[in-house]
Amino acid sequence: MPTKVFSIANQKGGVGKTTTAINLSVGLARRKVPTLLIDLDPQANATSGLGFEKVPGGSLYDPLHGEGVAMDKIQSTREKYLSVIPSEVDLAAIEMELGQKEDYLVQLKQVLQPVIDSGKFSAIILDCPPALGMISMNSLALADYLLVALQCEYLALEGLGQILSVVEQLKEAEVNPNLAVGGILMTMYDSRTKLSKEVVDEVRNYRPDLIFKTIIPRTVRLSEAPSFGKSIFEHARLNPGAFAYGKFAKEVIERFKLEKAS
Ligand code: ADP
Ligand code: MG
Repeated sequence: MPTKVFSIANQKGGVGKTTTAINLSVGLARRKVPTLLIDLDPQANATSGLGFEKVPGGSLYDPLHGEGVAMDKIQSTREKYLSVIPSEVDLAAIEMELGQKEDYLVQLKQVLQPVIDSGKFSAIILDCPPALGMISMNSLALADYLLVALQCEYLALEGLGQILSVVEQLKEAEVNPNLAVGGILMTMYDSRTKLSKEVVDEVRNYRPDLIFKTIIPRTVRLSEAPSFGKSIFEHARLNPGAFAYGKFAKEVIERFKLEKAS
C-alpha cells in the first residue's frame, strides 16, 4: 500500500507532540490503518507512553550507524494495526554524529527507505524531539507532511510562523521538495478561558486552509495516560480526549486518503 510519512516536529517542547503521536497512531490503528510510530526523541516519551521499555539497541541508533537495519527494529504492540520503533537515550548522541556526515540531512531517509518501500504501512508517524536539530531536520527531509501541534497559548502564532518558514527553507533548498504542511492541530484547549478561544480564532484566520477541524481539549486523563503506558483509548475511552483524538484520526484518514487494511 502507498505509505504517507508524517513528521510531528516543532521547536517547542510541551506542546502536545508526543501525546498526539501516540493517540493519533492508536486512533489510526483502531480504524484499521496499518501504522508505524517511530520515536525519534532521546527522551523516549512515546516509547514509555505506549508501555515499552527503553532497551539499548532497540532504537534507530544502530541503523543510523550502519549497523543493522530499521526493519529489524520494528516491534508489534497490543494494537493489531500498530507497530513501533522505540527510542532510547543513545539516540541523543545522533544529534552530534549526524552533523559530521556529508549528507547529514538524508541519513534518516536512507535508513527508513526500505521500511517505506515495504508497503506494510499506510502511515508512518515520526515523533520528534522538542528542537529543530539534526533529528527533526532529518525527519522533515523525508516526510510527506509536517503535522504541527500548537498549544492554545499566548504567542502560538509566533511559534507557528517559525516552523512554517523552516518548511519553506527545506523546500527551496530542494532538501525535500515534496514536503507539505499537512495541518495544524490545536491542543490543550481550555474551554473555561477566553485565551484558548482567541488563539484558535487567530490561527483559523491566519491559516484557514491548514487548521484541523478537531480541537484537542485539555484533560487530566490525557496527561496521566502515559504513566500507565497506555493510549487515551485504553486509559479512558469515554473521556473527551479519547473522543477528540478518535475524531482527529478520522480527519487525518480523510484529509490524506489513508488506505485501510482489507
Ligand atoms: P511534547 O511532546 O510537545 O513535548 P507532550 O505531548 O509530551 O508534548 O505534552 C506535554 C505535557 O502536557 C505532558 O505532560 C502531557 O501529558 C501534557 N498534555 C499534552 N496534551 C494534553 C492535553 N490535551 N491535556 C492535558 N495535558 C496534556
Ligand atoms: Mg515529546
